[in-house]
Amino acid sequence: MGLIIGIESTAHTFSFGAVSSDGSDVLPSSSSLYRPEEGGIHPREAADHHVQSAGDLLRTAMGNWGANKDDIDAIAFSQGPGLGPCLRVGGAVARSMSMALDVPLVGVNHCVAHIEIGRRMTGCDDPILLYVSGGNTQVIARASGRYRVLGETLDIGIGNMLDKFGRSIGIPFPGGPEIERKASRFIQENGSEHLLDLPYAVHGTDMAFSGILGAAIAHAERGEDPGLVCHSLQEVSFASCVEVGERAMALTGKSEILLGGGVACNQRIRTMTSIMAQERGGEAYWPERPLCVDNGTMIAELGRRMLDSGIETIMTNSAIDPSLRTDMTPVIWS
Ligand code: AMP
Ligand code: MG
Repeated sequence: MGLIIGIESTAHTFSFGAVSSDGSDVLPSSSSLYRPEEGGIHPREAADHHVQSAGDLLRTAMGNWGANKDDIDAIAFSQGPGLGPCLRVGGAVARSMSMALDVPLVGVNHCVAHIEIGRRMTGCDDPILLYVSGGNTQVIARASGRYRVLGETLDIGIGNMLDKFGRSIGIPFPGGPEIERKASRFIQENGSEHLLDLPYAVHGTDMAFSGILGAAIAHAERGEDPGLVCHSLQEVSFASCVEVGERAMALTGKSEILLGGGVACNQRIRTMTSIMAQERGGEAYWPERPLCVDNGTMIAELGRRMLDSGIETIMTNSAIDPSLRTDMTPVIWS
């Protein structure tokens, strides 16, 4: 069994995943999530967490796959974008494994990995990607050999916004899943019609989320039902992403839209995206939840495509790049 191992360490998640070198198998990741005791991610603490988890996680992953070190054909790792101290841990583990096992190393673009795992798992071909995660919110499309960013958040990522609102009402990180539960409980009990007034920020194909965050916190502080605030926050912030996704479909003439990133776990954004796509005669796609959140498997899958296209990262080019952008990576595979 030949395997390509993928190592993810851009932010709070440290994860090993794998795909078979011939592309026939996609193996589950073993991941560990750094959860701050209070406040947001502290990059150095997250990096310490990654260092401490790496050995056990790799043993668990290899055990789950029934693999041994002779099965490893190549090592792929997230080269960026992300938090420097976190990325550095993944980079160091990847370089050590590549040298110790004498197998090729390939540094991959984390954002592009979200797209490629989505294409691999859902069978969509040339989608608009609505990439909705903790730190990133971008609308992306392939054009002239790159994945181009057509629009993005002008301030914070949508997941970050949800996590910060969650924290303000006492929900520990990550806030998104519990906000979704509160919102759907509210809808079950009260219907979905009632919505609080919240600012809606779409500027062409860009979005912004700090205004809606402040307004939602103010509603909660005034004593509004937390379920109603969660429901309203989801409806208004997701609508802005779906609007920009639709505009990107209209601009490019593409008929597929793919959701990626942790917020793509949310059933409501999936439903809204689906309705929009179907109304235009298109189709919406998303991978299963463990492949929406940050995971090593998507890194392995992009690594496989790059290696198949003859791209390998030599040691001297293997430094991490915290500000690597989606459109900096040439895309030469089909
Ligand atoms: P990522 O940065 O892609 O690993 O995704 C993590 C982000 O996804 C965090 O901000 C989470 O709050 C968010 N998230 C995870 N599950 C959900 C969900 N069901 N609804 C909304 N946000 C979610
Ligand atoms: Mg991500």
